[in-house]
Amino acid sequence: MRIGVYICHCGLNIAATLDVEELRRFAETLPNVVVARDIQFTCSDAGQNTIKSDIAELKLDAVVVAACSPRLHEPTFRRTITEAGLNQYMLEMANIREQCSWVHMDSPALATQKAKDLIAMAVAKAALLRPLETESVPVSRDVLVIGGGVAGISAALDLANAGLRVYLVERRPTIGGYMALLTDVFPTNDCSICVLAPKMAEVYANPMIKLMTYSEILAIEGTVGHFRVTGVTKPRYVDPTLCKGCINECSGACPVEVPNEYDFGLGKRKAIYMAIPQSVPLVACIDTDACIGCGLCAEACPADAVKYDQQSEEFKLDVGAIIVATGWQPFDASRKEEYGFGRYRDVVTTLQIERMLNAAGPTRGEIVRPSTGEIARSIAFIQCVGSRDHTVGNPYCSRICCMASLKNAQLIKERYPDADVAIHYIDIRAGGEGYEEFYLRAQRLGINFIRGRVSSVEEGDDGLYVHYEDTLLGKTLMKRYDLVVLSIGLEANRDAEVVGNLLGLSRRPDRFFEIAHPKMRPVEAHIDGVFIAGCASGPKEIQVSIAQGSAAASKAMQLLFKGEIELDPTVAFVDREKCIGCKLCVDTCPSRAISVKDTAFVDEARCKGCGTCAAACPVDAIEMRLFSDEQILAQIRAATAVKGEYPFIVGFLCNWCSYAGADLAGTSRIQYPTNIRIIRVMCAGRVDPSFVLEAFRRGADGVLVAGCRIGECHYVSGNLHALQRVEVLRGLLREIGIDPRRLKVAWCAASEGDVLARKIQEFVEELRDLGPVGTELAAALPSGKV
Ligand code: SF4
Ligand code: SF4
Repeated sequence: MRIGVYICHCGLNIAATLDVEELRRFAETLPNVVVARDIQFTCSDAGQNTIKSDIAELKLDAVVVAACSPRLHEPTFRRTITEAGLNQYMLEMANIREQCSWVHMDSPALATQKAKDLIAMAVAKAALLRPLETESVPVSRDVLVIGGGVAGISAALDLANAGLRVYLVERRPTIGGYMALLTDVFPTNDCSICVLAPKMAEVYANPMIKLMTYSEILAIEGTVGHFRVTGVTKPRYVDPTLCKGCINECSGACPVEVPNEYDFGLGKRKAIYMAIPQSVPLVACIDTDACIGCGLCAEACPADAVKYDQQSEEFKLDVGAIIVATGWQPFDASRKEEYGFGRYRDVVTTLQIERMLNAAGPTRGEIVRPSTGEIARSIAFIQCVGSRDHTVGNPYCSRICCMASLKNAQLIKERYPDADVAIHYIDIRAGGEGYEEFYLRAQRLGINFIRGRVSSVEEGDDGLYVHYEDTLLGKTLMKRYDLVVLSIGLEANRDAEVVGNLLGLSRRPDRFFEIAHPKMRPVEAHIDGVFIAGCASGPKEIQVSIAQGSAAASKAMQLLFKGEIELDPTVAFVDREKCIGCKLCVDTCPSRAISVKDTAFVDEARCKGCGTCAAACPVDAIEMRLFSDEQILAQIRAATAVKGEYPFIVGFLCNWCSYAGADLAGTSRIQYPTNIRIIRVMCAGRVDPSFVLEAFRRGADGVLVAGCRIGECHYVSGNLHALQRVEVLRGLLREIGIDPRRLKVAWCAASEGDVLARKIQEFVEELRDLGPVGTELAAALPSGKV
């Protein structure tokens, strides 16, 4: 094996902390290394050309790049070596930037020693790499879009217009989402439904879109190219092929009135209803919780469309890609008890004022006090209700609330120029195109801006009393208003959790779905073939949601237009000579990719490469391509060859959350001790007991197994298997005289670099207290025998 090693300076990102020249000299001494170079920017054209010419001239078999995270540039360097004639899998990267120079800026000597170990580990693994062939399989060119809000509509139309068949599944009776309920939209003050309704109609009319409203997803199996989806369409008790959408006939006859959820409780609707006048499809729906079964609507319907015996219908789809556009849910304002929502009728929310301002809403566009029905003459908006608020668990900014209040306050001033309108704010966030001008316009209209938090709202005999702080005046004040509008924040949609769990999507601490990279891959999920658009991945404006819908559609097109996809060869395979047919792997595999007939067989199209089966197999009959036992054991041995500091930790970090979290710690320059050597595995479930025992046998003072947070495993259950194994291993360690506290688990999200850094710091301190490995053995032995 002839290996070339390329150590990147990354300008000063690496070279300011690590002694790159010393690393190069060290790399030259490693077995199988025929050339070692340090390069200013390895990812530059010049850097890549150096690697390519070395491959050709020095006949290299494998390449090690010691630079940034493989999560960033592994595809780049795989392309580089392929262009020079090497198999793309003959590459190994040593992460000496995110997981070394950036996190150990104050300890250059120890960081350089750690970088040497990381390079030695990469070279040891590279010596055992084998070329892997990729196989292509045909894909379904159909796409499932989950969620019929503006992002889902945008994605569905773009896909359909490009010639792909789309299934648009929406759980409500109509598409349109929250945008269909708004009055005008900022910063242009266009009528919301006027711009949205034509798009909703286009969805309905497009022959390439099958619209499935009032429907839910029940199960998703398979992988990119062929997701097998099961869902159900709930009964409306109205035949959509017969209903003419006239609604007044049937709902006029219905004797039951209930609060209208589409007016957020301000107006009423009947038990048979149409969500909004522009509903798509324009088909009535019976609310069975409210219906008393009187039969009057069926009698009244001129089209004989009411069908009380309608049943739910299951559907099955085979799609190549899935776009998750499940949107958001409003913050429950009653959780901020001090503002009186739910107790005082004249305290309303942003969404309720949107409905009041809407000409088709419950007050026909009038701003009234719900308690009296009179026009409200003085109105206070309170910002950041349920946003930027640790007390309700939402520290994030909801992004749209400032602009929504500016817009609604302007509309009120335009309709009632004499109205006294005030906005109580912490900061006005007006960061988009045309937003600052919009803010200035609101000021010119005479809206009163008061900077400071509102402490409480109280109801008096003649109105609402707002107690607030004015930080510009430095005073605590109180003022009476007719109406108070709580500017509520956006929260992750709880109803989308089912879909998230079915797909195995990760969630951030703020509970929104996590995207693959916050900058570089803004609409990709961590799962191949799954894309996330709109507020499913966090609060955002309508125009951004639309852009994300289009971006997700374009990503799905890139994937499916080729007609086939390359299967990732880094999957499991079974040595049939060794397999004893015990089926342990079958029960362990979260992808149901293994079947056993005498011996085990892995369906490579279904295998996601987590490696949980390989760790479970009692006779080591399963191997992982690219993360084989011998490769990982070689990394452990290289990591522990010098053991240059105490305590010395070997860490196994899952690719998706903990390794990504460690990268984020680097990007965020969060400093932690140099004592850990990290080995990347795809899942914590891959960590074979033999890896842990080998690390201890080689003198590690501690072993860290880190993965996604429990319940959020990228492979659904890999971290649970890891946890079980760690428990068993701790018992074993105790038996052989090693303190079980030396084996630690850590669960974190990819967004929790700080959590991971803190866990490493804590582990280092705990191990210092325990002393070097073997101390416990020495203590257990009679004195004089050590
Ligand atoms: S766990 Fe191992 S031995 Fe048991 S069936 Fe699976 S591959 Fe065969
Ligand atoms: S457990 Fe993981 S690696 Fe093993 S077959 Fe299933 S998906 Fe593939």
